[in-house]
Amino acid sequence: MLLRCAAVSASSGSRYAVGLDLGGTDLKAARVSADGRLEGFAKRPSRAAESAEGPLEAIAEAVAALTHGARDGLIGVGLGSPGVIDPVTGSLAGPTPHLHFWEAFPLRERLSQRLGLPVVVDNDANLAALAEHRLGAARGARVSITVTVGTGIGAGIVVEGRVLHGARGGAGEIGHLPLGRGGAPCRCGVPDCVEPDASGSGLARHARELGLSPAEAATVFAAAEAGDPRAQAVVAAMADRLGAALGVAVSLIDPDVVVLGGGVAQAGERLLEPVRAAVSRYTLATHREGLRVVAAALGERAGVIGAGLLAWDAAARSA
Ligand SMILES: [Zn+2]
Repeated sequence: MLLRCAAVSASSGSRYAVGLDLGGTDLKAARVSADGRLEGFAKRPSRAAESAEGPLEAIAEAVAALTHGARDGLIGVGLGSPGVIDPVTGSLAGPTPHLHFWEAFPLRERLSQRLGLPVVVDNDANLAALAEHRLGAARGARVSITVTVGTGIGAGIVVEGRVLHGARGGAGEIGHLPLGRGGAPCRCGVPDCVEPDASGSGLARHARELGLSPAEAATVFAAAEAGDPRAQAVVAAMADRLGAALGVAVSLIDPDVVVLGGGVAQAGERLLEPVRAAVSRYTLATHREGLRVVAAALGERAGVIGAGLLAWDAAARSA
């Protein structure tokens, strides 16, 4: 009994951050150590469809569950959110389709008041990129870009261990480059936006047109692998447009590593192989020399790990 008490005491005495990854459906959360190890990882409903207060309440509940009401050792909270996050204020800078009730929302300020804790906020794709850069598929890279390909396309650029934010927090939005081929108009309003042609939403649209069921990206990849020439053409066209967007990123930032994650990237080499070929097509020989295009390593936990690392970075700066 004494030994057990000692062990619990040692554990509760170690320092940790709380990392949170807010989505339209789920809130993921865990305790994160300084070297990025997770404890107590859990998902709960994000309550984003309920009200403006819903996600704040979900976050407060998650923090309470992870700290067990005691805050010994808690160094701060890091949060990844959809949308453009102002790198100075930590506010959501404009509307995002995943969080209907928030627009130009002072996220860091409201959350810090509510929790009574230091809070740092960044875009969710940026934090997944930070985690992959430091601990995952881009470990050891000087410059990396991590692209999350799901229904849409998110991306984060990390340079020498730090996220590149741009002036307003919007750097790396390669999903909305005007490289589309007229597949469908994008919600963003950019003419010929590439996202509908280079993401899971485009694959789902083509699956419907081909009469494939269920109408989702995985079905198209399975049909292509089974030899359906129409599905093979759809995958080839999608990989070509994604590769064109990545090619622009490669020309601009000259990365060591391009990391592909997200639901659509679970197709693995069936996506990576044609994307590598397309990136080669659309980049200069100087840029593709030694460039690696690889699958993400940290899966659905990347955002929580990155959020925790961000909180640790902030604590180190303020120490
Ligand atoms: Zn767009």
